[in-house]
Amino acid sequence: MTQQTSNTQGIAKLGTGVVTGASAGLGRLYADRLARRGYDLILIARRGDRLDATATELRASHGVAVKTIVADLGAAADLDAVVKTIAGDASITMLVNNAGVSTFGPVATTSAADLLTMLNVNITALARLSQAVLPGFKQRNRGALVNIGSVLGYHSLPMSSVYSGTKAFVLQFTRGLQDEVAGTEVRVQLVTPAATATDIWELAGLPLSNLDPATVMLAEQCVDAALAGLDLGEAISSPSLEDAGLFKAYDDARGKLFGGGQTGKVASRYAAKEALAA
Ligand code: NAP
Repeated sequence: MTQQTSNTQGIAKLGTGVVTGASAGLGRLYADRLARRGYDLILIARRGDRLDATATELRASHGVAVKTIVADLGAAADLDAVVKTIAGDASITMLVNNAGVSTFGPVATTSAADLLTMLNVNITALARLSQAVLPGFKQRNRGALVNIGSVLGYHSLPMSSVYSGTKAFVLQFTRGLQDEVAGTEVRVQLVTPAATATDIWELAGLPLSNLDPATVMLAEQCVDAALAGLDLGEAISSPSLEDAGLFKAYDDARGKLFGGGQTGKVASRYAAKEALAA
């Protein structure tokens, strides 16, 4: 892990926003939008040249202080170092856990390395970085944690078992965190984009040209909608979901499904089979 600091004067009031995966796609746009709002920034990714270019541009355009951290969040030593840095920085008022990777394909033909990278970046890094900032946020009763999930956290396809599993973790983990900060001024937002035009599709082995263009959102629209959702106080923001009632229906069913299992008894359809077998 290497760090580069800027001496540029920042705007102290909003504090510092940390964006993981800020070298491309949604993370690069989050960095831009937070800088426009006046946040100082800590930008994290593996491609330091891209982070530096973004940092230079944002310092010049918005007069904010920007620090870059070159780190592989899928590597334990780098993640440990980033966690330590983030946990010890009381200026941090926002963390956007955006870094994510995908390799599409059946599990049987997914390499162990690709499988582990998805688990390490999408789950472990997101969980540990959330854990790094939340105690400080709670102590100061201030701060926003934004976790980038996916509509694939609600749904699994034959080619997305691992990726969907990781995003399902982001969904449940983040919802749990929301309950943990209830009653405080700390905000925890889950963002669940659908298909959005970024490099992730090419990197996943399924170029965007395979998708119906009508189903693909622009990255700028996705980030701007997610930030609008944060401003609206939404717990879960789904940038392209028009019918918000669908989410309510899902959530109601989720609660009923959980409650419906708390009977302490074998369900009758199994009890009947047990009786036949006896
Ligand atoms: P992207 O353009 O591929 O950007 C991914 C970012 O994550 C890059 O900045 C990359 O930086 C960083 N990253 C990847 N592996 C990393 C690692 N090991 N360590 C540190 N940084 C790493 O993808 P994107 O679409 O913007 O994705 C952003 C988030 O949105 C992800 O969590 C993704 O799952 C989610 N999402 C995307 C879509 C979509 O359709 N685009 C839909 C739903 C959810 P380096 O390569 O420089 O490290």
